Amino acid sequence: MRLILLGPPGAGKGTQAERLVERHEIVQLSTGDMLRAAVAAGTEIGLKAKAIMDRGELVPDDVVVGIVADRIEKSDAQKGFILDGFPRTVRQAEALDAMLTQKGLKLDAAVELRVDESILLARIEKRAGETPGGPRADDNAEALKKRLAVYREQTAPLADYFRSKGLLRTVDGMAPVDRVTEEIDRALGVGNEAAGG
Ligand code: AMP
Repeated sequence: MRLILLGPPGAGKGTQAERLVERHEIVQLSTGDMLRAAVAAGTEIGLKAKAIMDRGELVPDDVVVGIVADRIEKSDAQKGFILDGFPRTVRQAEALDAMLTQKGLKLDAAVELRVDESILLARIEKRAGETPGGPRADDNAEALKKRLAVYREQTAPLADYFRSKGLLRTVDGMAPVDRVTEEIDRALGVGNEAAGG
């Protein structure tokens, strides 16, 4: 299974991706996690990305497309993957499309987590307090405001992009975490199987 998770910062993409990984034997590919690892390791990409990420802006398309292209070649991604935080622009979506087509692969779905923006700050603050090793540099009110603006302008249009391809599945991300997981499984048509029935 090859999936995309769409939703604003704080929508619960990471949490749901972890659950999908356990249930469907696929890997979670979070470009945010990969970039934070690059920053922590002090690689060339990390050095370039850090200030951009701290401001809540997007790292250039070419950089993230390159990271994803390398990552999906790895053996653990061959059974399937869930992309969390990628694509974030139409250009990234088109690059992904080209990448998969070239490998003879197809996406199964793009799952959109719909949430009310008014709850996102509270969720981000909660996450900031729970992150081992301290909060992320961009989990603060100012960076969140920027990340939301960027989401609205550059990432939200992807819902239409995937809808036009017949891949969009929209789920209510305001529901309790377990309920959201059930809704995702239902949207993917794997509810009973995943529950072991
Ligand atoms: P995330 O963990 O998905 O919230 O990502 C944290 C930050 O990493 C974002 O605010 C961006 O600066 C950067 N980032 C992650 N994924 C992408 C992407 N697909 N395109 C551009 N920048 C990204």
